[in-house]
Amino acid sequence: MNSDIELTQVTEQLNSGILLLDLDLNVVSWNRFLAVHGDQKISAAKGKSVFDVFPELPKNWFECKVASVVQLGTPSFCSWEQRHHLFELPHTRPFTTDSDFMAQNCTFLPFNTDGKLTGICILIEDVTDVCHYQTMLKQTMFELEQANRMDGLTRIFNRKHWEDTLAKEFVRAKRYGNQLSLIMFDLDKFKQINDNYGHQCGDLVLTETASRISDMLREVDVFGRYGGEEFGILLTETNAAGAKEVGERIRTILSSTPVTFEKQTISFSACIGISSLNTMQTRYEDLISEADNALYSAKTSGRNQVCLAPSLRMCS
Ligand code: GH3
Ligand code: MG
Ligand code: MG
Repeated sequence: MNSDIELTQVTEQLNSGILLLDLDLNVVSWNRFLAVHGDQKISAAKGKSVFDVFPELPKNWFECKVASVVQLGTPSFCSWEQRHHLFELPHTRPFTTDSDFMAQNCTFLPFNTDGKLTGICILIEDVTDVCHYQTMLKQTMFELEQANRMDGLTRIFNRKHWEDTLAKEFVRAKRYGNQLSLIMFDLDKFKQINDNYGHQCGDLVLTETASRISDMLREVDVFGRYGGEEFGILLTETNAAGAKEVGERIRTILSSTPVTFEKQTISFSACIGISSLNTMQTRYEDLISEADNALYSAKTSGRNQVCLAPSLRMCS
């Protein structure tokens, strides 16, 4: 058996591309994989510059890569995560991917003849499947992470994420002496809405509340569903006067426009409690309980009210 012929048989059947270049980066030879996938490009390539055959190659980058292989005499690798592909070889997968071309892992190998470096061999592995499933996995992880933070009904932050954020912002504001205010609000006589018009109507009031307020807030405000018909808003860089203004706007935006459910018009309102960061509070929970106390005062003074925490000594 002739070992050269055997080796040629192997490279011809290999499911990876092999491209051999001389040191001037002219094409010397290639295997069947490249002939099949490279199609027109490769058919008359012999002796031509690799940049003429594959004009899509990033010339400067490619030359640097080759130079390092020549200088060090060691292989060099380029994964699909660094560059999705080097060679524009169409992929033949039945699924849709972000690119029409196959994702590639490319290895640049020094090629020696009689112990002397005479060229560069590039091994091109088709990793379209790996790239596709990794991309899908990343997307799924991202969606899961998002879903983990969201309240299923209102599509605003759930209590866990909202409270985690509050805890972090509390520490940050304390450390840097920033202003921080908290609004807690609770829909008035919400049970009656459920009892009179049904649970679906109650759900509509909750989603409408979340959407009206989300539209009104700044991007930096952190809005979450604390539980049932109670919500919290964290206002960074905001003092009590600013928070009171926001509270009033919330009160108005909810009470001024009723919702329509099965042709019935349903008015609703909320009580709003406000607290602001001061030197006495040591835990973020202090901020919540002060806003809760204010909320309770709003309930007892007639509902559809905004109240400031006792430490802020004002009530409207
Ligand atoms: P108050 O003015 O004192 O706040 O009275 P309220 O009726 O709003 O408060 P209460 O705590 O008595 O009732 C809250 C109701 O909210 C009871 C609960 O069934 C309802 N609820 C909690 N979560 C949901 C939900 O996701 N959807 C609907 N439709 N109702 C909910
Ligand atoms: Mg309520
Ligand atoms: Mg409640």
